[in-house]
Amino acid sequence: MSRRQFFGMLLVALALLCGSGGAAAAGGVLVLQNDSTAYDLAPYMAVAVDPDGKWTIEQAAGADAALQYTDRPERTPNYGYSAAVRWIRLDIRNDTAKSMWLLQTDYAPIDRLDFYVAGGDGSFAHTRMGDSMPFGERPISNRSPTMQLQLEPGKQQTVFLRVETEGAMALPMKLYAPLVYTEREQSTYLLMGAYYGMMLVLTAFNIILAFSMRSRAYFYYVFINASTLLLFLSLNGIAYQYIWPDAVWWNNRSIVFFMCLSHIAALLFARSFLRITKQRFGTLYRLFVAMIAVELANMLVLLADYRTGLVLSVYSIGVIDVFIIVAAVISLRSGNRPARYFILGWGAFLLGAILSAMTDAGFIPMMPWLVYASQVGSVCEAVILSWGLAGRIHSIRKEKEIAIAQMNETRRLADSDDLTGLYNRRYVIAAFEQAVMRGGGSMSLMLLDVDYFKQVNDTYGHDTGDLVLQKLARVLRASFRPRDIVGRFGGEEFMVLLQDTNRDQAHRAAEFLLGTIRKQPFLIGEHTLSCTVSIGIAEWKGTPEDDFHQVLLRADEALYAAKRGGRDRVCEASWEGCGTAVGSKF
Ligand code: GH3
Ligand code: MG
Ligand code: MG
Repeated sequence: MSRRQFFGMLLVALALLCGSGGAAAAGGVLVLQNDSTAYDLAPYMAVAVDPDGKWTIEQAAGADAALQYTDRPERTPNYGYSAAVRWIRLDIRNDTAKSMWLLQTDYAPIDRLDFYVAGGDGSFAHTRMGDSMPFGERPISNRSPTMQLQLEPGKQQTVFLRVETEGAMALPMKLYAPLVYTEREQSTYLLMGAYYGMMLVLTAFNIILAFSMRSRAYFYYVFINASTLLLFLSLNGIAYQYIWPDAVWWNNRSIVFFMCLSHIAALLFARSFLRITKQRFGTLYRLFVAMIAVELANMLVLLADYRTGLVLSVYSIGVIDVFIIVAAVISLRSGNRPARYFILGWGAFLLGAILSAMTDAGFIPMMPWLVYASQVGSVCEAVILSWGLAGRIHSIRKEKEIAIAQMNETRRLADSDDLTGLYNRRYVIAAFEQAVMRGGGSMSLMLLDVDYFKQVNDTYGHDTGDLVLQKLARVLRASFRPRDIVGRFGGEEFMVLLQDTNRDQAHRAAEFLLGTIRKQPFLIGEHTLSCTVSIGIAEWKGTPEDDFHQVLLRADEALYAAKRGGRDRVCEASWEGCGTAVGSKF
């Protein structure tokens, strides 16, 4: 979309919002000329306030009251949370041939609507509507109160309407020919079905994820979706039509009840998703707990006294909505990147909710698309948060991988020798003890010492000596099986722990190693030197009493014997150790 198109759309949206769409002159007679269109009744309404709510229809239609119909709304009237009773007068002349019309008030939560159609003889035909009576008593089975209006062709008739409600008094009223009404309702129910279908699938899918991941955030997400779903089912009148058609008392409270419940869910979800823990964010965490408690209390107040509960909820929910955004920003700034998804999702929901709430409270005029703004916002929120949950799981997994890698690295450093990278003495001892605990099998320890290493240092310097040790370490590592533990004992001495290896096998391996080292040129800078090692071998006796220290002592004696025997050779310790070494030189 180009920038121009974008601003064009913005202007159109603003024009719609301000309702500059050319309303007809207020308060005139509505002339029905076309039975294939819907008539918005707002421009033809004349509204009077009945302060005590005691007028009878005769009084309301009488000459005294006539002067009171001073309020002439041009657009859909919305009096917000107004407790006053209002009377609306409509003059309708039917210039079509059709006498049957349908009058719909597309705002399901209105408590009580009394319609009076003046007959020729001064009597009035009365129809009562609204959700203060069981759903089954509605003349037409529809989620929003709809009634038949008999308007004689060629005549002008006056319709009076008395409105009384505890919640928001919004009156989006339209007059339809039956065919037009049916067509429009089909699309409305289809759109509602699409919304509820989407929310149900998202909820069901995430219930499965919540169980398989055992993630608290997923459970809370399901909680938000389910409570939001119930909130809109109540708000749209669908729940009253299909779920609790006889529960009048409950239906009146259900909207605010689910509003509180969905905010408790949102607080729980936000706290978990934004990782607001007691340790990291003490005050913020306590505020979350306090707000959850406030909403729980609200729900109880609501059940006891609707109006108090409603007012408390409206204010507390406003505070919570802002609080959650602030918490998300704090979490994002503390380095929790998935909080971005949350801000986006919650922002979408909030924008929809603000538009709807402002419409409800009468701050902005009622527009058809505004009625569903919070519903559209909630779908966007559900999709973005679901996406965010995946992002969050990904980032948690990544953090875990990094932590494991760091732990492994720390362990590796703790277990290895700085100069050569081979295992250190501590690790070899631990490996020996583990093998002893496992028991069974044979095991041999090989102790190696570089011959005349002092001369290497004296001749070429200590640094060259280090390089020789490093090179030798690589040769050693390459000469043994992966499961053999090759370590540096200290100085120019090394040791190798050979598992499932007896003395003879160890001896053969040692002889082979001597050959390898002997042939190995150590190219260090411009120098090529060669060196030899002496090796002492001791086999573990296979009993727990024969611990590392004992075996090492025997191997050391064997090594000493190899040195004494002329170096560059292998000696193995007999079971008894000292003095019985068997040596060999190739
Ligand atoms: P022998 O054949 O009897 O083992 O003779 P040797 O010279 O190897 O024995 P000695 O124990 O007298 O000397 C060991 C030398 O190893 C002394 C020390 O300077 C050297 N050395 C020990 N650790 C290191 C090291 O980390 N780097 C270097 N470059 N030299 C080391
Ligand atoms: Mg030595
Ligand atoms: Mg030495």
